[in-house]
Amino acid sequence: MRFETLAVHAGAEPDAETGAVAPPLHLSTTFRHGPAGERQAGFEYQREGNPTQDRLEACLAALEGGERALAYASGMAAMQGLLESLPNGSEVLIPDDCYTGLRVLAREFLPLRQIACRTVDMTDLDAVRAAMTPQTRMIWAETPSNPRMAVADIAALADIARAGGALLACDNTFATPALQQPLALGADVAMHSTTKYLGGHSDVMGGALVFAKADALYETAAHRRHITGGIASPFNSWLILRGARSLPARMAWHCANARRIAEFLGTHPAIAAVLYPGLASHPGHAVAARQMRDFGGMLSIRFRGGRDAALRFAARVRLFTNATSLGGVESLIEHRASIEGANAVSPPDLIRMSVGLEHPDDLLADIGQALD
Ligand code: PLP
Repeated sequence: MRFETLAVHAGAEPDAETGAVAPPLHLSTTFRHGPAGERQAGFEYQREGNPTQDRLEACLAALEGGERALAYASGMAAMQGLLESLPNGSEVLIPDDCYTGLRVLAREFLPLRQIACRTVDMTDLDAVRAAMTPQTRMIWAETPSNPRMAVADIAALADIARAGGALLACDNTFATPALQQPLALGADVAMHSTTKYLGGHSDVMGGALVFAKADALYETAAHRRHITGGIASPFNSWLILRGARSLPARMAWHCANARRIAEFLGTHPAIAAVLYPGLASHPGHAVAARQMRDFGGMLSIRFRGGRDAALRFAARVRLFTNATSLGGVESLIEHRASIEGANAVSPPDLIRMSVGLEHPDDLLADIGQALD
């Protein structure tokens, strides 16, 4: 079945009991069992598993082409759920450009579990090879990366990981499975902040892991989630499943709008660089063209006039809203360095844009008036 068809139907079969076409929402925390705990319909207690979360997981596994998926309360819960399922003493290579939460997890929390993270430029395959040690258990890729839009070669990283006896995990939040399928390229786990494009409407928080194989790592992460409790609630699962069903259609419009904006900004004298993998000038364009169906709805721009010019632009836009997060129907912008706080690593002249589903001419008019 093609991706668009899977998105509509996976996990969303009509309810067997009532025939309801829209997936039902089951809020029950507990499920009737027999006198000696015999399960009647496979469920016992919501934290261990529940029908609405099961539907979402079936959908996500199908969309990413994995054997099993686990849904979480947030992208960070999913990330932590995977990284803390590695054995003590593990070393993980993480990208030098990545979502700031991963950097903080690596600095403040994973060391408490004797999991050491080292930063490497994931676009430089020789650097990744050189960074591997016998303790390296996982390479963590994020492509395109947040916020510099660096593109990592997933198939090449999978080969390096395998040769070193390590696993490859890929944060696929920016691309979504509609544009990029890391498991088909050799990754072992795809991770998502489903808060973003999968939910798609800036009204639900969630995360997910999709495993190529229902292996020991999957079992460890599933057991860990059951006991530590970071599940997706039934209502959040239901909203994310609802979002996933229109993902391919939304992504096509996000991509078309972002491309228009990237092309416009690429010729504007106030802009020093447009970081969008769809532009032939982007250093990762060739790899992105090989491993992505399209180039996504995210882009970052750097201003010739530095931080002041970036902040002036952010203050002048009217249709774009200054807000964190991404992947919703409305266009957002953000001066990342301001949001990252004391340990900011984003360049001060950089503005990140999450291009929404408005008409592109209105978005371009807004950008044009803010730059004038
Ligand atoms: N990964 C990426 C690429 C992100 O952009 C984010 C959030 O912005 C996360 C992970 C964390 O997800 P959440 O905010 O759902 O915990």
